[in-house]
Amino acid sequence: MSEKQVRVRFAPSPTGPLHMGGVRTALYNYLFAKKHNGTFVIRIEDTDQTRFVPGAQEYIMDALNWCGIMPTEGPGLGGDHGPYVQSQRKDMYRPYAEQLVENDKAYYAFDTADELTAMREQAKQMGMPNWQYNSVTRGSMKNSISLSSDEVQQRIDNGDPYVIRMKMPRNVDIRFEDEIRGWVVVNTNNLDDKVLFKSDGMPTYHLANIVDDHTMEISHVIRGEEWLPSAPLHVMLYDAFGWDCPKFAHLPLLLKPDGNGKLSKRDGDRLGFPVFPTNWKTSEGEIFPGYRENGYFPESFVNMLAFLGWNPGTTQEIFSLDELVSAFSLGRVSKAGAKFDPDKTKWFQQQYIRSTDNETLAKALSEILEDSYPIEQLTDVCRLMKERATFVKDIWTEGSFLLEFPESYDEKTVRKKWKENSGVLMQEWRDVFASINDFNPEGIERAFKSFLADKELGIGAVLPIFRLLLTGKGTGPSMFDISDFLGKEESLNRIDQGIEKLTELKAQ
Ligand code: GLU
Repeated sequence: MSEKQVRVRFAPSPTGPLHMGGVRTALYNYLFAKKHNGTFVIRIEDTDQTRFVPGAQEYIMDALNWCGIMPTEGPGLGGDHGPYVQSQRKDMYRPYAEQLVENDKAYYAFDTADELTAMREQAKQMGMPNWQYNSVTRGSMKNSISLSSDEVQQRIDNGDPYVIRMKMPRNVDIRFEDEIRGWVVVNTNNLDDKVLFKSDGMPTYHLANIVDDHTMEISHVIRGEEWLPSAPLHVMLYDAFGWDCPKFAHLPLLLKPDGNGKLSKRDGDRLGFPVFPTNWKTSEGEIFPGYRENGYFPESFVNMLAFLGWNPGTTQEIFSLDELVSAFSLGRVSKAGAKFDPDKTKWFQQQYIRSTDNETLAKALSEILEDSYPIEQLTDVCRLMKERATFVKDIWTEGSFLLEFPESYDEKTVRKKWKENSGVLMQEWRDVFASINDFNPEGIERAFKSFLADKELGIGAVLPIFRLLLTGKGTGPSMFDISDFLGKEESLNRIDQGIEKLTELKAQ
């Protein structure tokens, strides 16, 4: 028998920007689909119109596109199972809800919001704080089970508002096998009669989700752990319709760096790292920072995300998207929450900047600098500086001296290293430097070492002040590479001017 075609979906609600946990869910769906030559669908779940946020859907699509994990079916992408936005499927859902009522799996309920609140209040006063609409209480509420069929018909004819509720059976064990968590068993006595269809004519998340997953022929539901409590109801719904259940995989939560609780958008502010893939601007104009705008490469962001809850079982940490596709399996996704680590996130970005070729980096830098230098020069700057950078912009903050006379001299190094005799010492080194014939990194290094030997000085007494003169900085790449890059004439010019400026500075 041929295996069922793999079809997975990412089903965000457009209630705001996509948190990085959401991107991780999308990523695992993408990897799973690709790995099994399946299809990755995006469906927008906007049945709760009160929580709809304009711009959220566009944000989600743009963020997935930046990450390089675009679905192939979805709004604006085409596919045979559309529309892919639930509000555009609105008319589909009622017949399914009615079908359940006909089959005695669901019922009409006429209780008003005020009546439900009063009921809860009353139960609380009687020492039952968690009143539920369920198999025990439904008999004393206003619904098509407790009322006569005439009265039900009359209420419907009158246009009384009603909802359709799931008729959860008493004392049945619901079981399903989660691909990550193994067998999950929940007794229906712990579940209430959830609303499936609302009085505003819209389905609830539960009904729409099941109808859509079924009609879109979804084979695997891969989603966040926060949906695990809903899964037993979903299993019951598939059963009530007589449909095959997709396979479920509930992904572990993303935790705060200290492991205490779910990662939230406020953690980003507090700890100074983005929680969103790209910048999000609220309608009030407040901006929440994104990885993209903070200078992360999508490849490093995605690589980092893949490791939040999954590991390949080897020591390899750097994976391209294609490599992730081949290595990924749900079996290696952990049950335990995944701690987000901002330092590790930076580490991934450092690895990616190091392995990016110099010309590509130069083009990115050129954009930041608005084309103020030729690409060839910037390529050299990137070659010398990328080992010390995390983001492209760092290459310039750390290495602008390669193309520009140092703006200032690092205060701390001046204070600690520029001694009274430093001017004289550098003057002597200048003369040696000026006479180097084989002017290349090796030749300069040889001359420097023999200068140290002649003067009987350690490297720490000479190199930092030489660096100060050429670069203005306290640390940086090899001084022999730097002098070679600047050339003899420019280096001598910087030594001369530097000695003058620093002597003056010290005299003040
Ligand atoms: N709309 C739900 C969400 O916003 C989707 C849950 C699911 O994947 O079933 O996360």
